[in-house]
Amino acid sequence: MKLKFYNTLGRQIQDFIPLVPPEVGLYTCGPTVYNFAHIGNLRTYIFEDLLRRTLEYAGYSVRHIMNVTDVGHLTDDADEGEDKMVKSSREEGRSVWDIAKFYTEAFFKDTDRLNILRPHTACAATDHIQEMIDLIRRIEENGFTYSSGGNLYFSIDACNDYGKLALLDREGLRAGARIDVDGMKRNPHDFVLWFTNSKFTHQAMMWDSPWGRGYPGWHVECSAMSMKYLGEQFDIHCGGVDHIPVHHTNEIAQSEAATGKKPWVRYWLHGEFLLMNTEKMAKSAHNFITLDSLTDEGFSPLDYRYFCLGAHYRRELVFSREALEGARIARNNLVERVQRLREAAEPVDEKDLSEKGSAYLQAFREHLAEDLGVTRSLADLWSLLKDPELPEGDKLTLLLDMDKIFGLKLAETGKETGEVSEDILDLIKRREEARKNRDFTEADRLRDQLDQLGIVLEDTPAGTRWKRKV
Ligand code: AMP
Ligand code: ZN
Repeated sequence: MKLKFYNTLGRQIQDFIPLVPPEVGLYTCGPTVYNFAHIGNLRTYIFEDLLRRTLEYAGYSVRHIMNVTDVGHLTDDADEGEDKMVKSSREEGRSVWDIAKFYTEAFFKDTDRLNILRPHTACAATDHIQEMIDLIRRIEENGFTYSSGGNLYFSIDACNDYGKLALLDREGLRAGARIDVDGMKRNPHDFVLWFTNSKFTHQAMMWDSPWGRGYPGWHVECSAMSMKYLGEQFDIHCGGVDHIPVHHTNEIAQSEAATGKKPWVRYWLHGEFLLMNTEKMAKSAHNFITLDSLTDEGFSPLDYRYFCLGAHYRRELVFSREALEGARIARNNLVERVQRLREAAEPVDEKDLSEKGSAYLQAFREHLAEDLGVTRSLADLWSLLKDPELPEGDKLTLLLDMDKIFGLKLAETGKETGEVSEDILDLIKRREEARKNRDFTEADRLRDQLDQLGIVLEDTPAGTRWKRKV
């Protein structure tokens, strides 16, 4: 399978050729753990999961690293505002360390429920302060820094290709720059590598460094940690599109400044936003929804995963309850079909697929290989399911194979006769609770939902019994 990706660096679709095949180094910018992830953030992690699964499906051996930002990310992605962790700690009345621990656990609970594969290494910024200091030293030795007002800054004027990822025009950058309130900067787009002095004096996390006691800027953590785990040059770096103009631009500038201009990352892939109406879903805009709030409404996390499969990662996706409801129905329908197929047929070996079955598999792979065309691959899945001429065994084989990418846990569905998935057990439990609380509207809604999943309930004096529809 030959993969092609749209590389933000250069803005074109390119053949994917790793540095040292079959190894692939993949770095994805992780969460800032000061609050729950919202479903917009989670869309980006689902996209990155689809990417990782596709690479593995294509036979690569992926090493996936993700940072956990627990220091230095200010409320503005550039150097304005307060550290998000410190702000959250003050608002919640807990230490920054407790905040970090709590929201890191919450993040992985969410990604596990979405069946997102865990990175091989998830590295906390605060565990890598020495690596950051070492990297900043190299940047300094190579002449890209200056000290001003107690902070150490990266000078973008020392760098002749600053902004190549975002296609920033250097003259435009100067002319169009907003007036930066940080008067200590020589160029408004310079950024802090190490703070010893910020407007906010109550920074709880500080370390000794050659530049004084303080804390690192946000961008430097990703350069330091990715290089530690993946080497000074590696294959793929991802994040949401909002990272292109500042965070990733600065990461490239400082990394290449440290290593002496070796091209750092070969392929940059960025996921588009999830929108709420027409606005970007964002914590700062207070228009965000968490995964928990969706499960409280009766959706399964996998309904949201399915919803995200409906749009290519480079397109904006508008969130609505109606669309999520559509995803829920489609996914339940899929689960039910897999159950029926399992009862009727056994999977076959890939080499024993019929000609038609092989053609479907090929189409699926071609679509996937073309810049992660998961949406078209999902359409392939539905076409083959509805094909009356395709043998049932072929259908089952293809579905299970394709689900290595979609990650809808189809292989776990209906394997055990008489047993049901955790999702269904959870719905049954929630309906019982609703009945106990005399919330009959909710109980009826859950009964209908279970009915659609092929589960019939019977309320007896000894409790609720359930069985599969025959
Ligand atoms: P943060 O925790 O704020 O650093 O964001 C985590 C990831 O979510 C980053 O890769 C962001 O680019 C991404 N992101 C933020 N808002 C959205 C959104 N509305 N839709 C999709 N991705 C987003
Ligand atoms: Zn990053």
